[in-house]
Amino acid sequence: MLKRVLSALLFVAICCSGCGKKDPEFKDTFSVIRERGELIVGVKTDTPPFGYLDKDGKNIGFDVDLAHYLAGKFLGDERKVQFVPVNAANRILKLASGEVDMIIATMTVNPQRQMILDFSIPYHTAGQAMMVLQGSKLTSLMELNGKKAIVVFGSTVEKNLQTNVPGVTVIGYKTYPEGIQALKNGTADAMISDDTILLGFAMKDKSLKILSKRYSKEPYAVAFRKEPESEKLMNAVNIELKEAINNGTLRDLKQKWGFN
Ligand code: GLU
Repeated sequence: MLKRVLSALLFVAICCSGCGKKDPEFKDTFSVIRERGELIVGVKTDTPPFGYLDKDGKNIGFDVDLAHYLAGKFLGDERKVQFVPVNAANRILKLASGEVDMIIATMTVNPQRQMILDFSIPYHTAGQAMMVLQGSKLTSLMELNGKKAIVVFGSTVEKNLQTNVPGVTVIGYKTYPEGIQALKNGTADAMISDDTILLGFAMKDKSLKILSKRYSKEPYAVAFRKEPESEKLMNAVNIELKEAINNGTLRDLKQKWGFN
């Protein structure tokens, strides 16, 4: 199924790149954003501390701040950004369909995704970790053979887990809070995801425990449509990210959201 979706997206990307070159009206996304006076960014709403909602329903988090930062740089006003909610399973389609200019949503760059999307330089590296309830006797991923583990649909862990622990029963959820709730209800023995995401929940809930081992490297980057129209935008984002890394802005933002 995933393979078919990826092939379809690759086909669309190839077609679009061809159209872009022939079209006399060719407009790169960066110019479209400048004319529109607003960035349209896909962000998570269920993934603290990267993308979630405050009590008034306002988008907040590290990825949200990064979008504000880019709007400030590109449009001279950090408020000029419209957020579109995405989740791990629908973010690629929302980007490919043109609903958003870019995705800033805890998205790992990997070779499979690079076949259909373009990515900025990484702005954070997470690692997959295992979370259990306090009092659980489990100490590693391998012990999940014959047991049940929770993942979020569309995340990198969905595939990794089945490859690394063939005997595990994987239970998928659409959102992180649903997965956490299922773990707390005893629906499964563990939940597997990126350490920084799990930490966002464990910091606020003492019944949850993250084990110390990390099972992968998950470099997060901004995702773009793989098309000539998005190249200028990607280059502009890379310039700003490099500067934010060099001048300490990114480090300060991570500190603000409680990770490094
Ligand atoms: N970084 C992982 C991914 O891109 C998991 C985080 C997420 O669910 O977005 O799939």
